[in-house]
Amino acid sequence: MKMNAYPVSRRNFLGQLSAAGAFALLPRRSWAAEPPGKKLGVALVGLGSYSTGQLGPALKLTEHCRLMGVVTGSREKGLKWAQNYGFSEKNIYSYDTMYQLADNPDIDVVYVVTPNSMHAKHTVAAAKAGKHVICEKPMATNVADCDTMIAACQQAKVRLAIGYRLHYDPYHRELMRLVKSDQFGPFKKMRGALSFQMGGRPWRAIKQFSGGGPLMDVGIYVIQEACMAVGDVAPLAVTAQEILPKKKPEIFQDVEETLTWRMEFAGGAVCEARSSYAEGANDFHAENEKGWIDFSSAYLYRGLAATTSNGPLNFRDPEVNQQALQMDAYALDVMNHTPSLVPGEMGRRDMTIVEAIYTSVANGGKRVEVKA
Ligand code: NAD
Repeated sequence: MKMNAYPVSRRNFLGQLSAAGAFALLPRRSWAAEPPGKKLGVALVGLGSYSTGQLGPALKLTEHCRLMGVVTGSREKGLKWAQNYGFSEKNIYSYDTMYQLADNPDIDVVYVVTPNSMHAKHTVAAAKAGKHVICEKPMATNVADCDTMIAACQQAKVRLAIGYRLHYDPYHRELMRLVKSDQFGPFKKMRGALSFQMGGRPWRAIKQFSGGGPLMDVGIYVIQEACMAVGDVAPLAVTAQEILPKKKPEIFQDVEETLTWRMEFAGGAVCEARSSYAEGANDFHAENEKGWIDFSSAYLYRGLAATTSNGPLNFRDPEVNQQALQMDAYALDVMNHTPSLVPGEMGRRDMTIVEAIYTSVANGGKRVEVKA
């Protein structure tokens, strides 16, 4: 990644988002009491691989927010983060002392990056402390928890968004633009897969923590992409099958190893999708009578590749940082009171689709209506 080119790229890109009218990211501030140039203070909850490898480094690039605290099970780890990111040691919390964030004006936003089944608990704790929340995907492990999270944030009058980073990536923005354009319009026929080989038996392979297998973890990106490709609407119905026998039943004891599913959208659009912890795949294709878009690398943090029937897309130079774009957009939305592109309601929508897919699997591949 070209670090020196990044800030210019991001500024231009945020400007394009605004100019496109997709959502208002105007450079005005309605926080009259705040000094110009204020950055929102973010606290990361859970200092695992995504926080360490992506979110922390991205928060060194952001213009509208910065890392000001952490919630971690290890004070030692927290002290290292405080030193690395230059925030006060008083801003290190444990999961049990998260409620004390309420007394800390350094922290405006809590970003939940813990295992899936803990998202609800940590989101509710952050809301009760009066902090705005970003919650990683999947929003939760069931729709009921999504409802609890949305209600807690509404009650506390704080904002809730999901850590869906692809909505801020230029390649996926282009897909969204094509869907809205006369040139292409909503796509009709889609297929996509996101899979990787999982080793060991991490929490992702244990239902109590993950809520499910690859569908919950990475298949949700294919769901997102298909919804995007028809104009950000949910499918009407799904059918799904688990691929059996499992190659590694000792690892995937209570979650699926590989799943295929079909989503049926209004107007006859369909998407055939697949997700697995025992294969490799990272693609998405969408077409209609006017043309097509084909991602050979669809869901990566960097190094995406896509071609349309009009020719190859090239948004790689300069490379952008999806997580920095996502968090800066969130910070601007909070400061400007503008709606998020990826609100809690979208996370809930996706969980209704996930639940319908699992219901279909449990019922021998029966067609299940999605009650989004
Ligand atoms: P990880 O296992 O590397 O980190 C999880 C963190 O949660 C660890 O620091 C761990 O100590 C902490 N934790 C707190 N309570 C725990 C408990 N009871 N059991 C286990 N861990 C506990 O996981 P990760 O890859 O960082 O994923 C965290 C979340 O971020 C997941 O929800 C995942 O879906 C999401 N994620 C999103 C993206 C993305 O591209 N948006 C990428 C990776 C992960």
